[in-house]
Amino acid sequence: MDGAAEEAGAGTAEGVTGGAAKGADAARAGSVRLDHVVHRYGRGGEAVTAVGPVDLSVPAGEFLVLVGASGCGKSTLLRLIAGFEQPTHGSVRVSGAAPRPGEAAGVVFQAPRLFPWRTVRGNIDLALRYAGVERGQWPRRRAELLARVGLEGTERRRTWEISGGQQQRVAIARALAAERPLFLLDEPFAALDALTRERLQEDVRRVTAQTGRTTVFVTHSADEAVFLGSRIVVLTRSPGTVALDLPIPLPRGDVDADELRNSGEFAELRAQVAHAVRAAAAA
Ligand code: ADP
Ligand code: MG
Repeated sequence: MDGAAEEAGAGTAEGVTGGAAKGADAARAGSVRLDHVVHRYGRGGEAVTAVGPVDLSVPAGEFLVLVGASGCGKSTLLRLIAGFEQPTHGSVRVSGAAPRPGEAAGVVFQAPRLFPWRTVRGNIDLALRYAGVERGQWPRRRAELLARVGLEGTERRRTWEISGGQQQRVAIARALAAERPLFLLDEPFAALDALTRERLQEDVRRVTAQTGRTTVFVTHSADEAVFLGSRIVVLTRSPGTVALDLPIPLPRGDVDADELRNSGEFAELRAQVAHAVRAAAAA
């Protein structure tokens, strides 16, 4: 039954692709489209415009990084794409349809949001259950997910017994459990030490290349943005609008991370993005 639900989910995504296809690409599973999106919190005189207007089209399979100063509306944009918020103006489409919270995307937040009284295994199993995966499939899927994020052998640990980096790996595995075509990450490594952060960046780069998911990743680090993104969008200060939309022509897939980070091309792109972020924040 649960397996059938999962297949039905995949079928729905395809149905949307076929049915709502205005531009075939705009409706492909995992694609994101924002048209004139504005979001305000509160009403009347108290209202705060958090972001927009933003027009943005993310084709399926792209790794988009949103960069901008604190408070410019990055998290708001991600919440709109996840379907947690409805835009005040404009429209948000994921795979060609209005995103439904919990269904449109796998989401990773800055703080891992795990269930502390559960083991690593318990946290992953809960995500598999929510994803509608048949119980008989859990051991295989759990092992795959743990291997994918480098957590083999930690199944029985409580989440308070593992490091912050490992906790964030559990959160990533959980977000991948549902096999949504879209993966959203909101400053997931901001609280981690530099070395752990680089490791996890490498893992996310590899996992997304392997799974072909569309990814939208929020950071305020130019370095992180250039390492991860196939495209970077820099936002102006609040309310954020698109200040720079830059393709990142660095090699994807199986690359030597150190070589990439030490390349001249990487340094140039990082300087360009860092400069754009500073200029956008000051404008
Ligand atoms: P960022 O993630 O780039 O730091 P946010 O999207 O969190 O920015 O916030 C954008 C703006 O919206 C900020 O001015 C912030 O104070 C405001 N804001 C965010 N969430 C809420 C909320 N729930 N209620 C009211 N204002 C909010
Ligand atoms: Mg934020």
